[in-house]
Amino acid sequence: MPSLFTKIIRREIPAKIVYETDRVIAFHDISPMAKVHILIVPKQETATINDFNESSASVMADCFLAAKQIAQDFGIAESGYRVVMNCNGDAGQTVFHVHLHLLGGEPLGGFA
Ligand code: AMP
Repeated sequence: MPSLFTKIIRREIPAKIVYETDRVIAFHDISPMAKVHILIVPKQETATINDFNESSASVMADCFLAAKQIAQDFGIAESGYRVVMNCNGDAGQTVFHVHLHLLGGEPLGGFA
């Protein structure tokens, strides 16, 4: 079964896409936890960090470059932002297609 995010990549379900390359897509989180909450997703589907190999992990470099670009585009590069990646249940991962959360646009409080 394709993941929810693969369905977004294939345009089978809608999303507010803000960035896309041949390897990465980014779109607004449907339930934002901050004024800016963007999900940055490698197009190659990998369920969790635990499933990375050298090839699939290498695309995360593209994701971080996307985070840098999106932060600039949204005007939060200097004010600050947080990048988060959840893995499995205790971290609250709900979509099993690895992704970065980019959060910002306001003070985010302590990390907990
Ligand atoms: P995680 O809990 O780290 O797996 O993050 C999954 C994120 O996907 C959550 O923040 C959800 O709000 C978000 N999400 C779920 N469905 C959609 C959707 N259709 N479009 C955009 N974001 C979504």
